[in-house]
Amino acid sequence: MKIGVPKESVLHEQRVALVPATVGQLVKLGAELLVEAGAGAGARFDDEAYRAAGARVTEQAAEAYGGTDLLLKVQRPSAQEAAMLKQGGALVGLLQPSGSADLLAALAQREVTALAMELLPRITAAQPMDVLSSQATVAGYKAVLVGAAALGRMMPMMITAAGTLIPAKVFVVGAGVAGLQAIATARRLGGVVSAFDVRAAAGDEIRSLGGRFVDPSQVVPDAQTAGGYARPLTEEEQQKVVALIGRHAGEADLIITTAQVPGRPAPKLISAEAVAAMKPGTVIVDLAAEAGGNCELTRPGETVETGGVTIIGAVNLPATVATHASQMYSRNMLSLVQHVMKNGDLALDLEDRITGPMMVTYRGEVRYPR
Ligand code: NAD
Repeated sequence: MKIGVPKESVLHEQRVALVPATVGQLVKLGAELLVEAGAGAGARFDDEAYRAAGARVTEQAAEAYGGTDLLLKVQRPSAQEAAMLKQGGALVGLLQPSGSADLLAALAQREVTALAMELLPRITAAQPMDVLSSQATVAGYKAVLVGAAALGRMMPMMITAAGTLIPAKVFVVGAGVAGLQAIATARRLGGVVSAFDVRAAAGDEIRSLGGRFVDPSQVVPDAQTAGGYARPLTEEEQQKVVALIGRHAGEADLIITTAQVPGRPAPKLISAEAVAAMKPGTVIVDLAAEAGGNCELTRPGETVETGGVTIIGAVNLPATVATHASQMYSRNMLSLVQHVMKNGDLALDLEDRITGPMMVTYRGEVRYPR
């Protein structure tokens, strides 16, 4: 089986789908690896490291795309890239299937079987392949660093000859994978952390990391679904939650928002009114910016200043920690390839409980949305 790794072409994308260490492991499993020259440069892995791990490095993107059975990517391919894929080949990546109808049609036309990593079932057996979790871990960590750098104050308490500094108050909204990592990172920096989530189960996780749980049970019943995700709130619940968050946000120095409901725009949890009531110097890092933002005033990819409050519409933070983000992504890819490799060949099965639901195209057929 031939596996290809191209250089990512999306602006500011520094990650690579496989790092040399994983290439070495795949070569041991009997795969042939073809890596586009410079593919790992943004994540600080040079071509020589890929060669030393057993890959062939090609200067030709068309060869990496067209000469391999399975192409591993981070971002979805452009139309030109999709046109280079091998007829009847396979593609894996964060394909953003909703909003990619043209791409899916083009892939189906080339009889490419495409697996969207976003659609990986969140089940225990699939955890080692879960790129949403691995990349959210990186995003949650980096959000705190970005926020800390934008604050006019330090995070920890300090008792110095020049006086005593009180620790920064950090408020995290949404305590999924990214939110929990943000709590842990803010605590390591010495912040006093509180966090809110509409899933009651998040309470124990927040407390186990040393955060204070802002309990929503007074205003809304537990919003966790059987699948472990939050359900969308009713209009009335939403208003109560916005009011509760507004009260806590007013006390915070740094606010990290991560709240998402799968398949929907991000819930608007921080109103313009709440921002107006914040202390000057407050910083908001909105990790939900790409899904529309948790703050009403967020602009994705931009930093907005209003009334002394800084709102950072963070997009693709994992790409800014490219070495470790790629290393984690690459381990996820290794687990996935091990799962779909049978006797040295690629065996994609629509009935497979992990990869079946991820197949947005299967040979000549578009299978998304279901
Ligand atoms: P996510 O990125 O979809 O959402 C982030 C957080 O926002 C979630 O904790 C959610 O409850 C919260 N949220 C949604 N609406 C909200 C609102 N109105 N106000 C406040 N918070 C709100 O979440 P995620 O990180 O993917 O995790 C979601 C669930 O999936 C968790 O229960 C997690 O433990 C579980 N999970 C399971 C696996 C696995 O078993 N493989 C992997 C990752 C996550």
